[in-house]
Formats: sequence, structure tokens, C-alpha cells
Amino acid sequence: MFVNYKTSGIFLKKIDKGEANQLFTIYTKDFGRLEVMGKGIRKMASKLRSQTRILSFSDIEFIQGKAGKTLTDSRIKEKFEKISLDLDKTETAEKIVGLVALTVRGQERDEKSWQLLLETLYFLKKTELRESHAVYQYFFWNFMAGLGYRPQLDVCCFCLRKLANEIYFEPAEGGISCKSCRPKGERDCPIDAGILRILRVFEKSDLEAAARIKFSLNQKNKLETISTSFLSTIL
Ligand SMILES: [Zn+2]
Repeated sequence: MFVNYKTSGIFLKKIDKGEANQLFTIYTKDFGRLEVMGKGIRKMASKLRSQTRILSFSDIEFIQGKAGKTLTDSRIKEKFEKISLDLDKTETAEKIVGLVALTVRGQERDEKSWQLLLETLYFLKKTELRESHAVYQYFFWNFMAGLGYRPQLDVCCFCLRKLANEIYFEPAEGGISCKSCRPKGERDCPIDAGILRILRVFEKSDLEAAARIKFSLNQKNKLETISTSFLSTIL
């Protein structure tokens, strides 16, 4: 007799397997990241087909067999259709679920990360935004912090002095450095006090405050660069 497990989760990713199966990566409330096989799901008659959309928030049931987990039921609670109707929000939501799929490895309950993911998707759904770049950046830095990668933004990560200008971001050190301490020969990533202020708002404030920040194009590109290089050092 197999035990039937129930939880709720966000569908992050799906990969076709064989003729009719699909392997789902789901971030769940009770078990963290799960990989669950949807058997026969690509057949027209499969009742689970419409209930396993990427991004959807669903109640799911699965059984644990010797070879892995099999999805036995899924009912969508929230499709986030309002996100799907907006191209910019869709891209942001895809980046968010992609980030979760990429960075969460273990099957472990993590209430804080789960709440952050849900809160961010609901915020995207309900909030009128000219663009949602800040929402992704807010999610990125807070999700990383929840996984144990909180950047050190108060002092130079080498000499521990407080920094006011000529600040460099050091992805490999997980923090910032001053001009004299920065590792020589590596590609410099200077950041200004404005970027530092934005990163601190992400750390100390909520999504509403983060979404209200006005970025210059330059700041937007810089944040994109430092989040991407920070991510590459932890993968
Ligand atoms: Zn220093």
C-alpha cells in the first residue's frame, strides 16, 4: 500500500518523458522542492492535463514509489491569469519560478521561502505596475538570503571599513569591497551609493516599497549584472 501525500505547490517546470509522461518540478508548502511524475498526462483523456500548468498554485496529491513520486491528483487554486495577460509580468514570473527551480535543491520544508514565493506572485497578480523589474530583484535578493546567501552590504568584505564611495561588488565574496581591497586582475564591478541604497531597501523593506523605487536604465542594468554574477557563484 502506498501512502498518499497531500500538499499545495507552485508548478515550476515540466519535462516530457517517454510517450505520454511529464516530470514536474513543484515547489511545495510542506516538502520544499519535489519532482513528481505525471503518468499518461500528455494523453488527451488525462484529467490532470489542465490542472498542471506552469506557475499555477495547486492542491496536489502524490504517492511515493520505489522509483520516485507519482502525481495522483492536482486541482488548480490560482492560475495567475492576470499575470499571463501581461508580457512584462509573465517574463518576471518566469524568471522567478526559473530561479526557484535552479537554486532549491533539497526536499525540505521552508516556510519563509514558500511565503515569499506566494506573496510575490500574488503581488504581481494584483498590482498595477509600469514594469516589474524591481519585483524580480526584490524576490531575487530576499530568496537568496533565505537560502543562506545574504550579501554583506554594510562594510568592505576584506577590511571591514564602512564605505561611502568607490564601492565594488564582489560576487564571489558575497559582498562589497573598497577600491584598495578589491581583488586585482578580476573584472571590476563598481557600484554607486544609489545601487547600495536599492539593495538595502530590498533587504529591509517590503515588496510595496521595492516596487515604488524609480530606477535609471543604468541602475537597472547594473542590478541585472550583479544578480546574475552573484547567482553564478552559488550554482
Ligand atoms: Zn577594504
